[in-house]
Amino acid sequence: MYITINVMNRRRRYRAAPRRWLSLTTLLLALVAGRASGLDPTKPSAQAVGWRLLAEGPLLPAPRSRAATSADFRDRALILCWHSFLADPKLPTDFSLDALGAQLDALSALGYRFPSLAEALAGRLTGRLNIVVTIDDGHRTVPRAVEKVFAPRGIEPALFIYPAVIGTTSFSMGDAEIRRLVDSGHMVGAHGYHHLYVTEELWKSDRAAFEREIYKAREKTGLITARPVLAYAYPFGAFSPRTKTELSRAGYAFGLAVKPGFVYTVEGYNDELELPRLVVTQDNWKDIYALLARNAQASGDLPKSKAK
Ligand SMILES: [Zn+2]
Repeated sequence: MYITINVMNRRRRYRAAPRRWLSLTTLLLALVAGRASGLDPTKPSAQAVGWRLLAEGPLLPAPRSRAATSADFRDRALILCWHSFLADPKLPTDFSLDALGAQLDALSALGYRFPSLAEALAGRLTGRLNIVVTIDDGHRTVPRAVEKVFAPRGIEPALFIYPAVIGTTSFSMGDAEIRRLVDSGHMVGAHGYHHLYVTEELWKSDRAAFEREIYKAREKTGLITARPVLAYAYPFGAFSPRTKTELSRAGYAFGLAVKPGFVYTVEGYNDELELPRLVVTQDNWKDIYALLARNAQASGDLPKSKAK
């Protein structure tokens, strides 16, 4: 249902704005260049990732050519969300780079691989043991975490930023840092404009603010990244049915919520505007790890040395 609505909206949008073809072509080239430069040689090529320019112009995952089977349920990913890497034990969502590296290595030891969000959204997942890394808020510690922890492990986190703080506060990365990450292949989505609760209450109390969180966020994120902005992560995980409708109208194809669940390779199993995702905190990491360990054991894909 949402797919059709999205595609229809996007067709209209891109027909009305042919100059977008330029930036879409740029993104395709950037994706090809990013993959070719190769943070992870075991990853599929950009062609295999499945993004392509449709006749209408929008950048969408390649459509599936076959009917879904029960086997498709196996091919799935869990999306995790980190925030900052200051090594500040007082911040519940903060981790040191060492702790972050240890978390990723523990998941690798369970047999997990780390496809990018773009790959997951394009349905390019194999097996049950997939983790997609996302990082919210555009914190200034992100580039170093990418350089020291994620890149050496072949992991390409997707970033969700809220433009009001980008380049204007000591909390955040600047435009140039985000652009460098985009140019090296990282997908960037919007995360509100001022990081407000984009709920029915906001729509009723301040319509302009509600629309700014969705429309201006997309416009400004697109200016910073010079790419079309396809994905939106709801600030605080808060949204309403109206938020989803406006997201689609604004040209987003995907909305990331905060709730348990997997993203499947078959669109029909996903609500594209309410994709599940878990925020990693110091308190809940043990539970998330236990969940992922159970998932690995249930899948029968656990390495023999770890099996009980
Ligand atoms: Zn946030």
